[in-house]
Order: sequence, then structure tokens, then C-alpha cells
Amino acid sequence: MNQTDSSCPNFQARLETASVLVHRAIDAVRQKRIQKRNLIWLELTGCSGNIISLLDGANPDFKSLASQMVNFIYDNSLMAAEGEAAMDQLFRLTGGDYILAVEGAVSTKNDGLYNIIGRRKDRPVTAYEAIKKFGEQASCVIAVGTCASDGGISAARPNPAECVGIQNLLKRKVIKLPGCPCHPDWFMGTLAYVMLFGEPELDDRQRPLMFYSTLIHDICPRRPYFDQGIFASKPGEKTCMFKLGCRGPVTRVDCPIRKWNERVNWPIGDDSPCIGCAMFGFPDKMEPFISYDTT
Ligand code: SF4
Repeated sequence: MNQTDSSCPNFQARLETASVLVHRAIDAVRQKRIQKRNLIWLELTGCSGNIISLLDGANPDFKSLASQMVNFIYDNSLMAAEGEAAMDQLFRLTGGDYILAVEGAVSTKNDGLYNIIGRRKDRPVTAYEAIKKFGEQASCVIAVGTCASDGGISAARPNPAECVGIQNLLKRKVIKLPGCPCHPDWFMGTLAYVMLFGEPELDDRQRPLMFYSTLIHDICPRRPYFDQGIFASKPGEKTCMFKLGCRGPVTRVDCPIRKWNERVNWPIGDDSPCIGCAMFGFPDKMEPFISYDTT
């Protein structure tokens, strides 16, 4: 049997985790057992890939999240307001009655002036200031993607803007959802769990075990090739890519089950080695992303 065969009850159940949680949270909101929560989404130093990834969510999808589960108060890419009006909408939230989702690292050089997220009352609002203010007050903080979790590409050598993950600046627990980008299911499932039950069980890097407990290598459909010592010599071959530098053996996350782009495919399924984007230390500690003899 293919190790990620959808007929496996364990994998099928895990695949549906996010969907089940989101639908339970929406039902609970509808029946007034829990309240819709205010959600702030800050885009800091990064590429905005995580909010784009979230928009690609399917069962659960973004529309269900934004219309039935949370009050989406602020996200600079999606909101109608702009300029000072958008900043006012953000700063109007006080008292901690919101969940904070953050993508992107925080630039710390020169008091954060390398990343200005807006202007208010004729002065710049830096990512550094925003994470300090809204991160300390929020009822829950979720780092979405690798840059917010641990610095990621924004903090890669030589890191000229001195970027760090948000946990470095907050004296509180941050739930981390690394991945470049974060899978929409990982975020929506975690958010729904927080709303229903509080903090999910986390591993020693503060990642929810429901999504980050399995080594890619242990459930990779190419594992039989690895076990028999049949290795690809160049990208494009259909066997195990261990000798090309695949980071599946050190990367814990459920990509082989969940896949991407509405569950169409994932890197190894498309003959590209895993580059370990969901692991602490990505990208510097995961390089080179590929190695093979081109002579
Ligand atoms: S090394 Fe990579 S391609 Fe080979 S079995 Fe492990 S995860 Fe799959």
C-alpha cells in the first residue's frame, strides 16, 4: 500500500482534522456556545506568502473563516480601509480581546525602522512597535509561517535588518506554525482549536502536535526506495531523493498526507527534494537545498 494512501483510516482522520475543528467552531459560534473572536493579522518582514496561502484554503476555506468564525479586524492586504484609517482600525482594538496572527519576522535594527507597516498621527509605526504592543496584550499569539516562527528567510545570513522571530520579543507563549508558507489547514485548524478548547498540545518548539508530529521521511511514499537503497541521481527521477539532499529525514510536518494547492501535490510528489522549510534553522541550516553531480 502507498504509505499516504487515502484509504488508511489514520491518514484520512488526520487529513480531516482542520475541517472538523473549523466546522465545530462555526457550529459553536452559530449556537452561541462560544463567541466569534476578533482576529488581527499582521504582515511584518516577509513576502506576504502566508496570507496568500490562507486564501487558497479549501474545506475549510477562507470565506468560512472570515464570515462565520472570526471578526477579521485588520490585515493590510485584505481590508478595505487604507492609510491612517486602516491604522486607526488596528489601534482601536485594546484590552486583549483579540487573537493575533503574525506573518513575517521583526526587523530590530535601528529601533525597527527597516520595516514600517503604516503611519499614524504623522509618525511611522514599525513592525517592532506593533508586535510589542499587540503581542503582549492579545489573548493568544500565533506565528504563521517560518519567518514569524523563527526568523526564516527574513533572518537568513547576512540578515542586514537584524530580523528575529516574534517569540524573541515577547515574554509570553507563542504558538508556532512554521512552513514556507504555512498550510491553510495548519492555521485554520489551530485557530479553531484555540477558540474551542484553548492551547493545543505543542512540541518542544511550540508547534501543534496535531500537524507537526510526524517525520516526512516516515510517511513519504518514496520510503520503500530509501529502504531498498534505490536513490535518484538527479531531479526528475521517481525514486528516493536522499542523495540529492532531501530534508525529509529531519523535517516534522504532515505534507505527505495533506499536500498543497487543494491537496493536488507536494514537493516530493513533483520530484523536488524537501528543503525543510518547516524546520527550525531554515533556510541557513538546511542548505544546500539540492546537491548532485552535474559533470
Ligand atoms: S529521503 Fe526524502 S524522498 Fe527519500 S524517503 Fe525520505 S523523505 Fe522521501
